[in-house]
Amino acid sequence: MAGAWPNPEFFLIKDISLTLKDGSKLDVDRSLVTRAMQYSSTSGFPELIKWVKDLQEKVHKPPTLEITDENKQLDIIITNGSQDGICKTLEACVSAGDNVLIEVPTYAGTLAILNPLKPKILPVESDKDGIIPGSIRRHLSKWNPEDSQNPKSSIPKILHCVPNGGNPTGSQLTWERKKAIYKLCQDYDIIIMEDDPYFYLQFSKPYVPSFLSMDVDGRVMRFDTFTKVMSSGMRIGCLSGPRALVNKIIQHQQVSAVHSSGLSQVALFTILQEMGHTGFLQHCDKVADFYKRQRDACLAAANKHLSGLAEWVEPSGGMFVWLKLPQIKDTYKLIWEKAREKEVLFVPGNAFMIDSSVPCQYLRSAYSLVSAEDMDKAFERLSAIIKEELKQ
Ligand code: PMP
Repeated sequence: MAGAWPNPEFFLIKDISLTLKDGSKLDVDRSLVTRAMQYSSTSGFPELIKWVKDLQEKVHKPPTLEITDENKQLDIIITNGSQDGICKTLEACVSAGDNVLIEVPTYAGTLAILNPLKPKILPVESDKDGIIPGSIRRHLSKWNPEDSQNPKSSIPKILHCVPNGGNPTGSQLTWERKKAIYKLCQDYDIIIMEDDPYFYLQFSKPYVPSFLSMDVDGRVMRFDTFTKVMSSGMRIGCLSGPRALVNKIIQHQQVSAVHSSGLSQVALFTILQEMGHTGFLQHCDKVADFYKRQRDACLAAANKHLSGLAEWVEPSGGMFVWLKLPQIKDTYKLIWEKAREKEVLFVPGNAFMIDSSVPCQYLRSAYSLVSAEDMDKAFERLSAIIKEELKQ
């Protein structure tokens, strides 16, 4: 008499069978389908959580799996893509006026979450090797490590970064820098938000070890997603972090989405179970190989058409090239007016900057969807647009 669950008698789906692109067919276990039709656990289907936890153990060997303090032990929640976990974590941890350390340039989605929360963003500079520890150190020099124990202190509590295939930069945070950054975060008691959707799209092996893999304190909130390698529309990601913090996110999920779509979870789980961890990692390798070839085609087109007009760093993973147009003061008008007229689009760099009103010489080009021929045409057009602009 207590439960407010609808009567499943009237839910219409009984069986789900999946046909994969290789022609193989998978039936979703009927008991999973039945459970997927009803409300289920807020943190996610236990079978999927276990699969993901075993993967995290295999890939990252998180020290927090062994930690004795329960609050710091590794816990996992299935989220609606990684964006959902990032949003909930920032909403939980950031109040108006708080200082937060954010990699710049950064993922526009993070800025869109942060801006209404009205924090003071401390921009952490980055280069081809990711965020620069010295830049974090400079910001933190205003405080003493002991300030982190004073709840009234304005010391930053959060560092957000995209360590692989940076969106927009394509850069990769090195292991050496990660170690230095983790140490700084230990000294000043800062939570690291490891927003890593392109982890499996690294172009060279072995993978650079993650912050999660060095987390002896339970200070890393790691955001993974199936978006880049399985399906973006299924909206399945996972947040791995210390239990005390993950529990807060579970509470938020309980009052917002309730849980991620049961249908997506059981469909994904059925495929993952069939693949096993090894099959999943092999699939990721195939995806990474594809993006690497796309990157090479994109850079070949850039070399052919943009030499002398643009500068870029070879992306080490992911799906973006970050181009600087040193002779152009601001790419915004160039792209939204001139490029659009010529039927080619890029994202103006200001979208990834903390103050998007400041003129920006950069633009982001994605190579995920476009054929080599079209990338060639796109950069040919961009080159013509830049040259026209320089004549004026
Ligand atoms: N973080 C970064 C850096 C991204 O580039 C994206 C996708 N554009 C996301 C998070 C969100 O991805 P999803 O919610 O689809 O997992």
